[in-house]
Order: sequence, then structure tokens, then C-alpha cells
Amino acid sequence: MTATSAPRQTPAAHRTDAEITELVDQLTLAEMAALLGGSDVWHTSGVERLGIPRIRVTDGPAGARGTSFTGKASANVPCGTALAATFDPQLVERIGHLLGLETRSKGARVLLAPTINLHRTPVGGRNFECMSEDPYLTARIAVGYVKGLQAEGVAACVKHFVGNDTEFERMTIDSQIGEATLRELYLAPFEAVVKEAGAMAIMTAYNKINGPFCADDKSLITGILRDEWGFDGIVMSDWFGLHSTVEGILSGLDLEMPGPPKQRGDLLVAAVEAGHLSTDDLRGPVTRMIRFLDRLGAFEDGEPGEEFTRDEPVDRALLRQAAAAAMVLLRNENAALPLSAASLGRVAVIGPNALPGQIMGGGSAFVNAVHWSAPLRALQERLGSAATSGATSEETSGVTFARGCQTHRQLPSPSRDVHGPITIDYFTDGLDSYRRGDSPTLTEPGRGFRMMWMAPPADNVSETSFGCVVRSTITPDISGDWQFGTTAQGDSRILIDGEVIVDDAGGKAGGSFFGLGKFEHVGTISLEANRTYEFVVEYQRTNMGLFASFNIGALAPVHNDLVLEAVDLAAESDVAIVIVGTNDDWESEGYDRTVMDLPGDQDRLISEVASVSKKTIVVINAGSPVTMPWLDQVDAVLYVWFPGQEFGAALADVLLGDVEPGGRLPVTVPRRLEDTPAGEHHPGRNGVAQYREGRLMGYRWYDTIGREPLFPFGFGLGWSTTEITSAHISGDRLIEVTVTNTGTAPTIDTVQIYAAVERSETDRSDEPAQKLVGFEKTPLLAPGESVTFAVCVDPRSFQHWSETEHAWIDRDGAKTLRVGRHSRHAAFTLPYVPL
Ligand code: BGC
Repeated sequence: MTATSAPRQTPAAHRTDAEITELVDQLTLAEMAALLGGSDVWHTSGVERLGIPRIRVTDGPAGARGTSFTGKASANVPCGTALAATFDPQLVERIGHLLGLETRSKGARVLLAPTINLHRTPVGGRNFECMSEDPYLTARIAVGYVKGLQAEGVAACVKHFVGNDTEFERMTIDSQIGEATLRELYLAPFEAVVKEAGAMAIMTAYNKINGPFCADDKSLITGILRDEWGFDGIVMSDWFGLHSTVEGILSGLDLEMPGPPKQRGDLLVAAVEAGHLSTDDLRGPVTRMIRFLDRLGAFEDGEPGEEFTRDEPVDRALLRQAAAAAMVLLRNENAALPLSAASLGRVAVIGPNALPGQIMGGGSAFVNAVHWSAPLRALQERLGSAATSGATSEETSGVTFARGCQTHRQLPSPSRDVHGPITIDYFTDGLDSYRRGDSPTLTEPGRGFRMMWMAPPADNVSETSFGCVVRSTITPDISGDWQFGTTAQGDSRILIDGEVIVDDAGGKAGGSFFGLGKFEHVGTISLEANRTYEFVVEYQRTNMGLFASFNIGALAPVHNDLVLEAVDLAAESDVAIVIVGTNDDWESEGYDRTVMDLPGDQDRLISEVASVSKKTIVVINAGSPVTMPWLDQVDAVLYVWFPGQEFGAALADVLLGDVEPGGRLPVTVPRRLEDTPAGEHHPGRNGVAQYREGRLMGYRWYDTIGREPLFPFGFGLGWSTTEITSAHISGDRLIEVTVTNTGTAPTIDTVQIYAAVERSETDRSDEPAQKLVGFEKTPLLAPGESVTFAVCVDPRSFQHWSETEHAWIDRDGAKTLRVGRHSRHAAFTLPYVPL
């Protein structure tokens, strides 16, 4: 494994230091201040007079979205947890290259990614974006991601530095993390991407760390990041995450985003004029900004270009390969999987995540995916001809479907079958002018009932005061009590045939749109099937914050027990593929989950289906762990995360055995939330999150205190069995391992190496019993075949951070390297004596 040896791939400078200094010398104070803030939501500021360009940045990490949530479509890659589950940095590096090309296709030079905070608790709202509970695995995967991305001339802006591990009060929470814990866990992936991948940009986290806001923390930004690690790129704030004018400059934060700036611009000029800062204080950040633009080659770019969509067959193939490589087979009783196309019988696909399936999580990571391979459709296509036709419900080529239950957190979008065409009237002076009978400033066709503006809706419509009226029709397919709901950042009402059904005026913010939008307001109305009603949404932007946005939902009356319908279908089928999970509303930026359980009636659904089904295959489509009270009742469990746009095709590849599920758990799956290391301390109180579990996070805690998880970190089955037949230390940090395929199918295994230092009986410290220090995948092994290869281990395998010496030091005690297949398996325990 190439743990630390690979060279940096940072683009070379075009201008000399002297040329850059000359440019800086020519800047006026106002121009210097301008360069240190954004010009709008997605652009930095330039200085036209001197040819200093502005560039575009874009989110990240699930794809490169571009400047609009509803704009030109983008490739959607597997979520962070899925990438880590591949245990394959080389594959992730190829994804990085694809993301580089995608970023360029959106005219951008910076991708706001990857997200490398750690899964401190299974319920973190952005866990799906992050990679793992383990810093070493996160580091290896992130280094691959950044190298691939930057090789395409795009800067990675690695985020969020540091301690934004959950979403609870994320804008203000003080993450109180001990020095050793910070160094050994939360800072370690950042250190790796800086030192090994030459990451060109870092985004500070919203939260505070042990007192100051991250964006104001000089010891973090200048001390650790620049002086200690040698970081030579730029540091930018998270969106609206800079809270100071003076401290932010003195801490070393280069760029306030987004623009127009709230803390810089005129305020920065005034701070210099008042003597709180000197122009010399601005020279450092300004020089770094110019050098950054120069290294990107942005001076030669001109204005950021048009955004367009790429969609190449080779990209789809890579994303399909990566999605399958991330799928983790957790249980496979009596070789229930793979399914044999020759003897399939009747196949029932059941579950709320079968159609369309959840390809990504929610929040700023959202991209408008260029393709969406839905599991049900892909399985119908692939299994259809082999499956025997014969059951009820939706029937296509012998594969039948029942949803099984509802799982929405907020009401789902009105179905296209039920609503008519949509138009939007914009009123630049707001809804008062609409109510006075004024004509709209602009009328345009609407694309749906979820709208989000981060810029003026149009040139002649004011960004801050506008209101709009969305007009459509609803023709119910079922008579009965329909529910309609709205969540908005602003004020919104829903009217049906002129009657107000829902009005959210006065509602509290916190439940939607990154935690900035209101909690959902729902109203009920009795409607008749096949009658057309006028459907109107009125929306008024208020001063509630960053975005203007609303989301409208509709739910038809449910007359039947959806679980029982699914159970009937399973009873008359030969195999039930139950596709369950969360969605982008349960797992999203802005708030955490409160429980680990599958939402809605899904646990009951699985259990009741399993009680009648001949064979039950459960597919879990979620970004982080869920509880599995039905585990012993089912034949197979496949964890697929949020697998990206090629979900369905990759799932069919794995279920039919064309491809082996290649993933290993990048997180421990606990039995219940109360069993988790941060269980007692999350989410924190009185504005403080105490990381009291210290270094005993994730498997380090389970393995040290001896608690049994449901599935250990690193676990995953394949299509065959393997044995690690020998292991010995063969060189400095090199372990030579032999693996044999002992089963009857070809397979790839993932060997993992954990470093352990003997603990005394009386040791009550948070020193972990063991930690992952190396891993490597075997090549594809035929039945009976063996392979011998070397695994390289982390140079810090037997070091820890000393809080007295403020340095990495060797640990005392007998040291061993455990060679196995997951954190609870050791085929060999090798005494370690440094060579
Ligand atoms: C998120 C960042 C993101 C930024 C821009 C913030 O809310 O925390 O991760 O890059 O918005 O969308």
C-alpha cells in the first residue's frame, strides 16, 4: 500500500514570487479587501484593472453541482461512506478525476469537497457525506479523492476544519475536544490530505473548538495547518461562518465566503483605516489568494465559463463499478445470494426505497443527477425475463412490486400524474403588490414544487423582497382526505380552489433547508377523484436568512395497510427483495437524526415479509447505520449506502452475482444508539459538545471496553471464503501476507492490519486497545488460488500524541500487529520489534 510515499500533485506556479509581490504592491486597500471576500454565492472577487480573475467554486462532494440547485445536471458519485466502504483509494482516485472533469464542466476551479469529519455518532446528519469513524481509513480515501481531483486542475477545498462532526447547533456549538483526541482522530485526515495530497484549499468549520470559532482560531489555521504541516494553499470560511473582521484576518483565514462579504469589504477597509489592522496584515492573505489563482492557471481562464452537462458511458461504468465496490454483504445464510438467474421463480421487490431509490443525501451536497438508475426498474430489466410472472401489484416481466410503507419525514412531492402544468408569477415588490392586483414582474414555467434561490430569481426581480405565486391544478386519482404540506424559508400558503389549506405564517425555523427553513405545516382537505382543482402556492421571501426556498408536499389518502399488501405479495413469491432505508430528508445537512431506527413501518415490514417469504433479501439504502431488530429472521442483508446515480444497475450486478459486493464496513454497526461511544454525550448542552469519549471513538471504544457491536468495523462477506495462511514482518513497516481462496467462487478479500499495545490491568486512560494502521485488497482470486503481497502500515502505528510534550511520541509496552479481516478478527498476531 502506498501509505505516505506518493508525491504531491499540486499544480506548478506560473508566476515567480517577485511577480506576485509586484502585483500585490499595485493593489489599493479597497482592492486588497475585495480579494479577501466573495463577489457572490459561488464566485470569488477579481481586480479587473490588474487582470486578477475571479473564479467559481462549487459543491461537492457528491458531484459538482454548479451555481444552481436546479441547473445543468451533473454526475452523482457514491456518498462519502460508500467511498470509504470500498477500502480502495485507487478506485476513489479515479472518482476524483471524474469529479475534476465535472467541476470544469460547471466552469468552476474549486470543488468544495471532500468532507472528512468523522462519524462520532451514527446519527450525525452529514455522516453520509463524511467517510468513516476511523481517521486512517478517512485519510487514505480522502488522499485518493484529492489527488484525482487536483490532477484535473481543480482545487479540492477540504472541509470542515475541524470538529463539525454532527449538525446540532452547528453554527455556534463549542466542540470541546482534548488535545490528543484532536490530533489522533479529528485532525489526522486533514494532516494527510495536506501533506500527502497537497490539498490546495481548506474550509473552516462553523463551530468553535475549545473556545474560539474555527475561522478565528490562529493556533489552528496558522499554527497547526500552515506552520506545522506546511499548508501553502488558501483557507476559506464555510458559508456565513466568519464572525469577525479583525480576528479572522489575524487567524490566517484568507477568503470570506460567500459574497458580498458580511465581515470584510468596507468593514475591512474601515478596520485598517481605524488602525485595528495594518495593510501588512492583509498582504499575507492577498498574496496567498493570488498565488492560488496563479497555480490553478486561472489568470489564463478569463471569466468563469458556461455550465454544461457531461454524461459519458465511461463515467457511468465507473460509477456503477464504484457503487458495487461499496456494497457490504453483512449476512448471507445458506448462500442466499447471489440469486441464480436459472432458478429465480417469482420475484417480489418490496420497500419504500425500491422506487426511485435514494442515490444521495440532503443539503448542500445535493446535485441534480444526470441519470438515476432506480433499483426496481433495473431489477425488472435484469431479472424480468428470468423471473416467472404471476403475482399482483405493479407487474413487469415477472417482477412484482409493493411499496410496503411510507417513510417520508415531510410529505413527498406531488406526483406528476396528479398535478398539471406549473407557472410561476414573480412580484418584485412582494405579495402585497399581487394582492393589490398588480401584474407580475415576470411569469415563467415552473419545474416542480421545490424551489430554492440563492440569487435573484431574474435580473428584474429583487432578491430580498420578492414574492411569487405558483399556479397549477390537482386532479386526484383517489377520493378522500388528502394532506398538503409546506416547508419554507419565508412565508407560504397553499390554496385549493381559493380555500386556504395551509398557512405557515409565524412558524418556527429549524426543520428544513439546512435547518434554516420552517418545520412543516400540514393541512387536510377532502377531494374527489378525477375532479380538477385549482392549486395555488403563495410564497413571500422574508429576512430569515441565506436562501429563499419552499417545498410543497402532497399525500393521497391510504385506504389499505401497505405492509399487509406487501406481505401478501411476498407470500406468493419465491424471493422477496426488500429495499429499505432512509432518504435525503432523514439524512441531511442542518440537523441530526434522533434515532437509529429505520423510519416508518419498515422494521415491521421486514419482519412480516420474512415470516411468510421463502427467501428474504434485505437491501439497506442509508448513509449511516440503522438498527436491525429483524436480523435473525432474514436470509441476506446487503448495505448499499447512498450509492450514487448508478444505484439500480450496480444492485442488479451484485444480486445476480455478476459482481462481488466489494465493501467492508467503514463504521461499526451498533445494536442500538445507547450502545455507542458518544451516546451519553451527544448532542451536548448549553452550547457545548463535550467529546468525553476522547480517543475511544468508533471501534476503538467497542474493542477497548469489550462491548459487542452488531457488526464490527471492517466487516464484510464475499462470494467465497478465504484464509490468511501466513503473515510476517518483511521490512520497515511492511507486512507480507498470504491469502488463499478456500471456497468455490472467485473472490477479492480486504486484509486489515491493526496495531495494538499491551495495556496494564489498571490502565483507565482513553488509549485505544487497537487501531487500523494498514489495509490492502487482494487481486481477484480463483477458487484454491493464493496470493502473497505486502501491506504497508502507518508510520504512526505505535505512536500517540503527548499532551505534555505536544508531540508524537512512541508508546511504551509490548506491541503487536494483528492481521485479519475486520477489527474483531486476527488470523495472526505479530510481535512488533522496530527493524
Ligand atoms: C456547508 C458547506 C457547503 C457550503 C456551500 C454550507 O452550508 O456547510 O459544506 O460547501 O454551505 O454550499
